[in-house]
Amino acid sequence: MPLNKIDSWFARINQALGRDRIPTADGKEDIRYAVRKINQYFSAEKPNHESIGKHANLIVELLLSMHRCSDDFELLSQILVLIRDVLDCDKKTRRPLVKALIKNDVCSFLLHHLRAVADDRGLGQDLSLQIHQILAVIGHHDKRLPLKARLFKTLGCTIGLLRIYSYNAKIGPVILTLLKIYAKNAITASAICRVQGLQPLLRLALTLDRRHAKLQKAAITVVRYLTQTKKLAARAATTTIVRDILAIVFLMDKSQGPSRGRSIKIKENLLKVLLNLVKSKAGRLQFLEANGFYLLHESAMNVLQNDSFTTFLDLSCHIMLHCCPKQQLPLENVFSPVRYVLPQGYDYIVSNELFMADSDPNMYKDTNETPEQSKSVIPTSEQRVRPKSSTASNVVTRVPSASKSSAVAACRPKSTKGARAEKKPHDSQAVRKKKSSLNGLKDRQVSTIDDEVDEESNSLVEDEELDDEDSGKSDDEEEDEEDDEEDDPSNRENFTNSSVPLPNGEPIARDPMELAASYDQFFDETVDPIHVLRLKMTQTIVDSRTESLLTRLFSNTLPSTLMRISDRSSFCYWRMPSDLHFQAYSIHATSTKSAYRFTKLAYPDAFNGLSYPRCEPMQKSDERSIRSILLGDIHRILSPPSIFYRTVYDFDAVVNRSSVTTLDNDDEQRCQMRPTVDHLLFDSQFESSNLRKAIQITEEEYDLILRPDVNTSRHHQWFYFEVSNMRNNMTYRFNIINFEKINSQFNAGMQPVIFSVHNARNGKPYWRRIGEKVSYYKNIYGRKKKIYYTLTFNIRFPHDNDICYIAYHYPYTYTKLLTDITNWSNTYDRSNIYFHQQVLCKTLSGNDCPLLTITSLYNEDDMYQDEKQTIPIQERSYIVLSARVHPGESNASWIMKGIIDYLLSDEQTARILRDRYVFKIVPMLNPDGVINGCSRCSLATKDLNRQWSSPNSTLFPTIYHTKGLIAYLSMCSSRPVTLFCDFHGHSRQKNFFFYGNDPRLHYLGPAVGRSAVTKLFPKLFTGVPGFALQNCLFTMRKQKEGCARIVVWDEFKIDLAYTMEATYCGFDTGIYKGLQIQISSLQSIGHDFCQVLLKLVDQEFKTAEVIAPFEELFIGNDEYQQEKRTTNNDEKRRSSSASSSSSSSSSSSLSSTDGDLQ
Ligand SMILES: [Zn+2]
Repeated sequence: MPLNKIDSWFARINQALGRDRIPTADGKEDIRYAVRKINQYFSAEKPNHESIGKHANLIVELLLSMHRCSDDFELLSQILVLIRDVLDCDKKTRRPLVKALIKNDVCSFLLHHLRAVADDRGLGQDLSLQIHQILAVIGHHDKRLPLKARLFKTLGCTIGLLRIYSYNAKIGPVILTLLKIYAKNAITASAICRVQGLQPLLRLALTLDRRHAKLQKAAITVVRYLTQTKKLAARAATTTIVRDILAIVFLMDKSQGPSRGRSIKIKENLLKVLLNLVKSKAGRLQFLEANGFYLLHESAMNVLQNDSFTTFLDLSCHIMLHCCPKQQLPLENVFSPVRYVLPQGYDYIVSNELFMADSDPNMYKDTNETPEQSKSVIPTSEQRVRPKSSTASNVVTRVPSASKSSAVAACRPKSTKGARAEKKPHDSQAVRKKKSSLNGLKDRQVSTIDDEVDEESNSLVEDEELDDEDSGKSDDEEEDEEDDEEDDPSNRENFTNSSVPLPNGEPIARDPMELAASYDQFFDETVDPIHVLRLKMTQTIVDSRTESLLTRLFSNTLPSTLMRISDRSSFCYWRMPSDLHFQAYSIHATSTKSAYRFTKLAYPDAFNGLSYPRCEPMQKSDERSIRSILLGDIHRILSPPSIFYRTVYDFDAVVNRSSVTTLDNDDEQRCQMRPTVDHLLFDSQFESSNLRKAIQITEEEYDLILRPDVNTSRHHQWFYFEVSNMRNNMTYRFNIINFEKINSQFNAGMQPVIFSVHNARNGKPYWRRIGEKVSYYKNIYGRKKKIYYTLTFNIRFPHDNDICYIAYHYPYTYTKLLTDITNWSNTYDRSNIYFHQQVLCKTLSGNDCPLLTITSLYNEDDMYQDEKQTIPIQERSYIVLSARVHPGESNASWIMKGIIDYLLSDEQTARILRDRYVFKIVPMLNPDGVINGCSRCSLATKDLNRQWSSPNSTLFPTIYHTKGLIAYLSMCSSRPVTLFCDFHGHSRQKNFFFYGNDPRLHYLGPAVGRSAVTKLFPKLFTGVPGFALQNCLFTMRKQKEGCARIVVWDEFKIDLAYTMEATYCGFDTGIYKGLQIQISSLQSIGHDFCQVLLKLVDQEFKTAEVIAPFEELFIGNDEYQQEKRTTNNDEKRRSSSASSSSSSSSSSSLSSTDGDLQ
């Protein structure tokens, strides 16, 4: 039949429908005829794309016109047949019709009719089948279909059909497809259960008849949706479903033969349902009553070696872990056994921590914003409140002093600029909104929830909680969020942190006079004449007690006993031999103040453990062995080993019982002694160590528990302990059972590090990676909603009766830092380099916080000899570097060591850098935390990198004074800070990378007038081994409000302010790809950092046009693009003013433009 015939019939329908789209009686006959003809044609020949495209709208109109004559079932049926014929075609052909159907909300129309015909026994059933068929095809295009089905009350009808046609190979799948669409919505799923929909589905899902495998699979999926929330699961678990699923899984286990592959799939799907069910208490109860542990464990053990059962095994393990009753950690009290008494008036901080340890850690989650809250008004630019550094109208009149005339002359009265807005009550709302729009992912999540809420507001019958029981789900979301180490571990902690009243901070002085009084002393390098400098240089860094000994050590020993080390990057620096290192280390150790008494010096720290000289590849994950580990754990729960479970190390019992007065190390002698006991020995009473308890489980297996940060019950991540008395023919398994982070790089190829005293004695004093079958997983320990994770690893020690040190990462203690400073201050080239060590302040527990200054000596005579322009010290700009604010991030210290080694070397680059800049370095911002083996906090229980906005000078002196130092530079110095960088370690990412500030993404709204030059510096790292530009992130989120890079950017207008992150694990890009990180790679990135700084010297002052191409690299979305357009003008202004600046010194052009824009 020719195509135009079809067209003519459609034309006839069009005509019959008439102008008002309501057919007359005659017209109806015409339509009936035409539709029948079309149906005949379509059954003979498939409809084609072209004609459907042409007539789709007409078909829909025709259908909708039926609402006037809804009793004409026959015509309606014919129209539905027509539509179904089209929908049966391939996707391309049916697309125009589907579009038209959805656009005109035909779903509502059909559901309405479904409701009308549901009770009709005659034609009604045919019609309702047709409607179901159509809905099954177009349903997933209509997001609101589940809601509509509920509103039109057609769910009962659908379930009724399912009961009749369960095993009908043609109709069954249609009904199930539609139910699948419905059940994805949790509220509709609940409604399905209310109309008794679960039973027929279960019957189908649990059939053993292989002929129905396809139907079974679909039914299982629907059942899975019907148990998606805890509430739904609890309801389902009132039936015998758990028992039945277990029986089927166990029975199908026996079935072999060709259908085996299919049966695996079905079993997996059933286990997914079971996993949903056991998330409810009722489900777990049934599981236990049905002897589920035994059944699942048996099934799992049977297929352990079979690769096609991996998903099955994973699911089995998950289910079993879920059903294990939560156990408390084998500790009397989870709170830190090491307490430090805070200064008077601050004891409440520890009381709060104690209270939190007792209460549910997740209760603070409630303080999180709800989606409704983030719907608040969009902030206008007036509403946007930015904290200003300076008090308003504070006119500076600095009294010149003779020695600092140049500094005074250029003193910039920054504080007079701009009036400051006060924080307004709506501010928090505005911030919230900003935050949600800054975070694309979160935003999306919020909007979908909002849809859901809107949708439900019409006829919200009952609200189903969508949350996973164990908060595992929300944790996952936190993990997915692009979050960085600074904000770690997990948002949970931030809420708890923020819910505890923070001690009030004092603002850093804004008066240059005041600042000068406090901080002038740290800027001796700017003091002329030279002879004062020379005088200073002769100072050694140690106090009078140790000075004589050190003088003896170093006098006349240089340089013959010092080793000149040449590393991969072929530059030379000085290193003490290990015995000299030990002597210096022991001297410094006597003045290191800890919160509890140490009993020894750790061998690798005292004798200068080195980087392993060969590459260490990342571990390939061995899924199978990990699974058998998990099953082994479950087995241990099912039938506990009878022999052991004995505590072999208990820090709580031995702490403060030591009578040791002089710290020493006798590891070498101990290595020779015969063992006296039949188990491993542990020790953890030395600097940076933090093992709390060791429990022997079997002859070869030990459970270990870490100490929390001092005065808290949290932050378990860093570990460092000594183990001895081992046999070399045994494989030991260690389980550290109280980690808190949801995931770890230990699952991504990372191994712990080990140092063997035996090897060191044989000339191999190396820290190296060790551990087989390394795995990190959620365990059965916890309390209320607290969840713990286990790190497990196997070690085969190379030597009998060795003494080994095992750590999370290469340790770098505070005493080691002091020792390195001694080394530096005694080995640098005094004729060229200015190196000065000072005490910035005392920490809470009375340790010195060192401040190092490095620049070149200014010597007018040299200038002409070298034909090299040396800038006078007063004209050099500053670079401020800091590290180790988080004590567990020892990688940061190794980078810092690399930087200082390099800056003090006689490399050409280092020379130029010293000539150009004055380096102010605070190598350890949290000495107390480092000394006491903390992971994240200081003794005052707070994350110091959240205190920068308003640091309390008593509790957080190192932050207070580092900030004061920068304040001094920004207000009293002619040369402001060119670059600030704080070094960190990142536990969830690989490679080296930066976090920086993007003024357009400030959490208080775009910061108008601030340059986007910030991305330049990381870009210059392109090509540096181990560096990954793609990992860099430029945001200014509210959660980071108090962190260093944002505060110095905000308050002191330092555009180049960064957090540099180093992986603990290794690299997945560049020439190091596939390798674990080593001490040498950390030090190398320090050298590279300096070399890139040199590139900055050249690039520093180029204009926005140069930077523009780089920016594209970071631009992620349209919103961003828009913001970019608005800020472009500012950049242009900046560039023009920069180029108009005629100053010969480029650094002054930077400051002048800076000034222009304020
Ligand atoms: Zn950090």
